Amino acid sequence: MTTASFCDLHMHSTASDGTDAPEDLPRLCQAAGLSAFALTDHDTTAGVARCAAAAKKLKIDFVPGIELSANPDLEKTGQPQGSLHLLGHFIDPDHAHLAEISKRLLKARAQRNPLIIEKLNELGVRITYDEVVDLAAPGMTAADLEAGDHAIIGRPHIGQVLVNKGYVKSIHEAFSRYIGSHGAAYERKDTLSAAEAIHAIHEAGGIVSLAHPVQVKHDSNAQLEHIVARLVDLGLDGIETRHSDHTPADVERFTKLAERFKLMVTGGSDYHGSRKSIALNSQRVPLKVCHAMRDAATSTR
Ligand code: AMP
Ligand code: FE
Ligand code: FE
Ligand code: ZN
Repeated sequence: MTTASFCDLHMHSTASDGTDAPEDLPRLCQAAGLSAFALTDHDTTAGVARCAAAAKKLKIDFVPGIELSANPDLEKTGQPQGSLHLLGHFIDPDHAHLAEISKRLLKARAQRNPLIIEKLNELGVRITYDEVVDLAAPGMTAADLEAGDHAIIGRPHIGQVLVNKGYVKSIHEAFSRYIGSHGAAYERKDTLSAAEAIHAIHEAGGIVSLAHPVQVKHDSNAQLEHIVARLVDLGLDGIETRHSDHTPADVERFTKLAERFKLMVTGGSDYHGSRKSIALNSQRVPLKVCHAMRDAATSTR
């Protein structure tokens, strides 16, 4: 008798805005019944080596990955809205172009985060950048971060400080009231074009997928199709069909979209540890999804 095997191809560690250390994830994945998993931290591969080493010890299949935030304004018209996150799977985590992009995005964050804090202060919310740094990267100073030391500090960390200091009841409330795209202290961060993100993941030997399409701002299915068509022109390989933000109807809609453009499908929980109430392996992604992607990555090398 064979039992079903699953993979989870989307999760975060303390190298970005997750709460579990990269070396702890393999054990947690194994306990969640996974046969394979990918670490896809925001804009960095800093956790990949440690995670890979721990995975090897436990004999759980590991996929090196990244989730790059790109500019959603594909046509360079109008006000960019929503987010455009691109997943890279089976990448060489040490590839020079990816490393250069990480450095640039880190710098963009180092500029953006203090601006968000400034806006919050203007609104009477008394938090400091040091408090955020302390929470996200204990032991590091703002100066260390500016020197390019690896630590992705994102809005979830700012949200956590807002919760800890009692300004909001949840990170979700922090986003809707303050730091989300419609919040009063919102600040954009769009330094990477989709074209360059796709190109860099390919250069690093990876497969590129559009993460959680539901988060890409679109008013109709036709509009999303148009965006996907543009990304396909730029080299997109896949679509994340199963994700914690997707309803069953979304999964069906995005699976059809993948079929229509002959794209691969990927899926994952987008686990962030205790910062979000999302469980590992909650998307029950069949292991063959991971294997199909591995075959494609191997054949293009
Ligand atoms: P940043 O990378 O700093 O722009 O922050 C983006 C991250 O914030 C995403 O990866 C999500 O993990 C998280 N996020 C975005 N919107 C929300 C929300 N409404 N509630 C909770 N977390 C969110
Ligand atoms: Fe995140
Ligand atoms: Fe994302
Ligand atoms: Zn993610």
